[in-house]
Amino acid sequence: MDRESAFNNLEELLPLAAEWAMAQQQRVLCEGVPLSTDEIADARAVGVRNPERVRLLRVDSIPVPAHPMLKAAAASINFITATPSGLALENGIFVRSDRWGDRELIAHELAHTAQYQRLGGVVPFLQTYILQCATVGYQQAPLELEATAKAEQVCSG
Ligand SMILES: [Zn+2]
Repeated sequence: MDRESAFNNLEELLPLAAEWAMAQQQRVLCEGVPLSTDEIADARAVGVRNPERVRLLRVDSIPVPAHPMLKAAAASINFITATPSGLALENGIFVRSDRWGDRELIAHELAHTAQYQRLGGVVPFLQTYILQCATVGYQQAPLELEATAKAEQVCSG
């Protein structure tokens, strides 16, 4: 699937993506650990409300959707890169084991958590994020650029 067909299939993709994201978030909320005191301070600095609700889950690899269409779309828009090191699903954040404790990565994912909150949850976030990735690509997606800039700001300050 190329970027254009991902874009054309957006209406079909969105409910599948949302269902997957909410199930993954649930797993992190059940199995994950709360933020440390320093991480809570970083979370506030990037705009997270209620950072005490956030959970981090250490995994060997970031989970990818099993549904073939979703998997193809995710690959085509780099929604999930080939070797992602973290993934935020609102209050649930996956962190790859070799990046566990990496302040900048966690601040980046926390900035995505703040975006989910600002946009109103999983569905509106994914709608905006997938649309941005399908039109300008993952690397230039405004939500991605914002998360990177906020993480840099927090870690340099
Ligand atoms: Zn990101």
